[in-house]
Amino acid sequence: MPKVKSDYPFQPVPFTQVRIQDAFWRKRIETNRGVTIPYDFQKCEETGRIANFDKAAGKLDGPHTGLQFNDSDVFKVIEGAAYALQVQPDPALEAYIDGIITRIAAAQEPDGYLYTARTIDPEHPHETAGPERWSSLTMSHELYNLGHMYEGAVAYYQATGKRAFLDIALRSADLLTQVFGPDGLRDVPGHQEVELGLIRLYHVTGEEKYLNLAKFFLDERGHAHGRELMHAFDNPGYMQDHLPVIDQREAVGHSVRAMYMYAAMADIAGLMGDDAYSSAIKAIWENMVHKKLALTGGIGARHLGEAFGDDYELPNLTAYNETCAAIGSIFWNHRLFLLEGKSIYIDVLERTLYNGFLSGISMEGNTFFYVNPLEADTEFGFNYDNTLERQPWFGCSCCPTNVVRLMPSLPGYIYAQRDDRLYVNLYIGSETTAQLGGQDVQISMETRYPWEGSITLRVEPGGPARFTLALRIPGWVKGLPLPGDLYHYVNDTPEGVTARLNGEPLDWQIEAGYLPVEREWQPGDTVTLHFPMPIRRVIAHPAVADLAGKVALERGPLVYAVEGIDNGGRAIGLSLPDDLLLAIKEQPDLLGGITVIRGGAITAIPYYAWGHRGIHEMAVWLERG
Ligand SMILES: [Zn+2]
Repeated sequence: MPKVKSDYPFQPVPFTQVRIQDAFWRKRIETNRGVTIPYDFQKCEETGRIANFDKAAGKLDGPHTGLQFNDSDVFKVIEGAAYALQVQPDPALEAYIDGIITRIAAAQEPDGYLYTARTIDPEHPHETAGPERWSSLTMSHELYNLGHMYEGAVAYYQATGKRAFLDIALRSADLLTQVFGPDGLRDVPGHQEVELGLIRLYHVTGEEKYLNLAKFFLDERGHAHGRELMHAFDNPGYMQDHLPVIDQREAVGHSVRAMYMYAAMADIAGLMGDDAYSSAIKAIWENMVHKKLALTGGIGARHLGEAFGDDYELPNLTAYNETCAAIGSIFWNHRLFLLEGKSIYIDVLERTLYNGFLSGISMEGNTFFYVNPLEADTEFGFNYDNTLERQPWFGCSCCPTNVVRLMPSLPGYIYAQRDDRLYVNLYIGSETTAQLGGQDVQISMETRYPWEGSITLRVEPGGPARFTLALRIPGWVKGLPLPGDLYHYVNDTPEGVTARLNGEPLDWQIEAGYLPVEREWQPGDTVTLHFPMPIRRVIAHPAVADLAGKVALERGPLVYAVEGIDNGGRAIGLSLPDDLLLAIKEQPDLLGGITVIRGGAITAIPYYAWGHRGIHEMAVWLERG
């Protein structure tokens, strides 16, 4: 096994060191903390997800309830709650989670095995669990569950310093290191995730065996060492087991599995300096971004197998675009940035964050989209469980329990650092402190992004300090909706982008998508950026059959949609002539405060805000009249 080399060359400023103070995200994070986290726990109770642990511990009678991977939801909500606790202590919440951890501990078998779908009744395990341990990894999700447990356990340990959950995780992971490996069981998880969890355990313990096992699980994919390669839904790439991972070059198969796998591969590339891994994920990324990405950042075109489609297969009404896949794409793109320091990855991340991810959670914080299509009519049941509205929960509730993990960790995506260079990746009003030029430097950012493109950054070192601020210039500012040629703006890119230091214009020199400002900074120095935010018309590459003759609207990082309620009951098939004059209007009382786009009879709202006012048609792409 290759030895650990280092870590990512670029390091995020951790979310615990960044305070978001803006009008857009702060309330969403607050809703996540105050509403969604307790709501998800309540749902885990109501649906028997937590009782399954009591049954496995022999403290409650009855069969396992629900899906074979329901344990994972409990672990994910604990992870999200742990992130929230790191920022804001909550003794009642912590005591509640301690109680759940005690119940989880009681469900763990003496050798570390933990999987309620089998332990409750080993003679009659869950129908997809397989007859014996590890005998049916294709669909048992035994290892998937554990990956989420490891991530939750590390988060809770970091939040509270309490080892109970971490010790459960380590006992489990030690069992895996004894069972799996080149000299043991040579098999892989049907749903990737354990790799990410093992890498987190490595980070917190420094034990290389966890990192090596994560790499083993990845390296075994695509190799039939005494097993049949995994596949499903007539899709050989469904589980990304069709080729060795280092030989894969296209984004294929189940999109959430894919994102978790590519994210873990990025971790291996960063930690072990593995060039074969980084070559593979860069090629896969290019395939995804250039040919398989919905305008909203959504991925997974097909309902069948919740999977990527072919190149340029980007339907509207039938697009799947699972919320979890958007979240996984954010994880992966962030890691690619940490590997290479290029803004193109943050361009994808930002588009996904403001559109394909944010649509998945209602503003109230207690209803969810599983599927995020680009068009909805009032007949086609687009959503998981065949519904047309945001739902309070799902049989498979991976998405509601994923949202609660991302939201509180969002502050960690804003800034990153390499030596004496601080990267500003997302423009979100916030404050942070970073070690730069040998000093603690306070940075504060003020902006009305995503509604306005003016940003003010104030720098407060203790005294003069030499360092670089690297300011991301978003692709949309430069006239590029995304890297590659999948989408184009119809209108020209306006002049008027400015960057000033203490009021004086800065040299416009872009490196890897960033404007670097290097100098000896003085307390109170101020950088101001101005990005014009015109309404943009977008068209797609001609190879996308479903988008031929269509046009969409964007402004800043936001993709817009028309919803029937604003447009006389209709949305699908509305036409938008190129010469129709469009204007914006701020509507502070509508949908939490939004800026709408109006032209002729058409009113468009940000895509993330649709579906809050009953069942109506919706369309992102309009006929280009
Ligand atoms: Zn999901």
